[in-house]
Amino acid sequence: MKAAVVKETSPGEHRVALVPDAIAKIVSAAEIYRTADVILTVTRPSDAAMGELRQGQAIIGMLAPLADPELAATLAARGVTAISLDGLPRTLSRAQPMDALTSQSNVAGYKAVLVAAGEFGRFFPLLITAAGTARPAKVLVLGTGVAGLQAIGTARRLGAVVSGYDVRPTSKSEVESLGATFVELTSVSSAAGEGGYARELTADERQAQQEELSGHIARHDVVITTAQVPGRRPPLLVTEEAIKAMAPGSVIVDMGASALGGNVTGSHPGQTVVTGNGVTIVGADNLPATMPTAASNAYSRNISALLLHLTRDGALAIDTSDNIQAGVVIAHDGKVVHEAVASLLQPAEGGPGVDGPSD
Ligand code: NAD
Repeated sequence: MKAAVVKETSPGEHRVALVPDAIAKIVSAAEIYRTADVILTVTRPSDAAMGELRQGQAIIGMLAPLADPELAATLAARGVTAISLDGLPRTLSRAQPMDALTSQSNVAGYKAVLVAAGEFGRFFPLLITAAGTARPAKVLVLGTGVAGLQAIGTARRLGAVVSGYDVRPTSKSEVESLGATFVELTSVSSAAGEGGYARELTADERQAQQEELSGHIARHDVVITTAQVPGRRPPLLVTEEAIKAMAPGSVIVDMGASALGGNVTGSHPGQTVVTGNGVTIVGADNLPATMPTAASNAYSRNISALLLHLTRDGALAIDTSDNIQAGVVIAHDGKVVHEAVASLLQPAEGGPGVDGPSD
């Protein structure tokens, strides 16, 4: 089986799907599309590159099929096998070496704190010097999944006083085990969903959460938001009112920033804005790509582990009765085989889709 890697083409994407020590030979992109059985990518290749894929070939990467189910339909129609690491079952221990969402979220959570510290005009740690005493920064992390927990650990290592909040009750002990304080809201009860993920809040819950969070947000110097709900636009956690109540010099890093909207009012991916009351809002944009060596090393191991799992006797052996394969195989044998992606391609029957109403 010939497995090949093409150079990423998205703007600002500096990661690679395999690191040099796993590569046998360097050839032209044209040769790859002509001869490779399996093409490994980080993110979704450009439309032009997709057009080069041929029947019987397979592509493995983070293809975000829930955000763009049409891509799966197009690849299926062309006879391409599409495999996306985004769909890996997260809580299955044998899948952990393949968990690219976790490895990339780890990088992102770490980098988000460095970005916040870079924008913040004061120290993170308590400093007692002859020139005076600096009180430690108070950092609040909203959403304490993989990225949030890494952000908490990193902010603690820099000496900040850290709090964390999540709608999944199990995250309380994880936050506390890192030496941070868990913020409990009285207005929102558990919103644990399937597969370890959060469910979307109802409109009433959302409003109550935003109002109760505002008081906590105002008491912090730095807020890092990471909240996501699979297949939905990120929930709005930091409203305009909450931002207005923050002290000048405060910093917010929105890791949920996306074209559909983020966790913070007024954030845009890749943009940093300073509000009228002096609060800096950073819309994070592909933070893992800003630490490409660490991110690529981990991703390379994840994708290699998945490829080995999918291979029998030197060829891909697609079998969606396997839990891992059922999560990652999106298109095969001319069909969209992933249930959640296939259901998004059905004509709407009244339920909101990926870009349905949220906030
Ligand atoms: P994610 O990126 O989907 O979301 C980030 C966090 O946002 C989650 O913790 C989620 O609960 C939270 N969130 C969503 N809506 C929210 C809201 N309205 N308010 C506050 N917080 C909100 O999550 P993730 O980091 O990919 O982790 C997903 C799950 O997978 C977690 O349960 C995690 O523990 C689990 N996981 C398990 C393993 C393992 O068992 N080995 C590995 C990785 C992840």
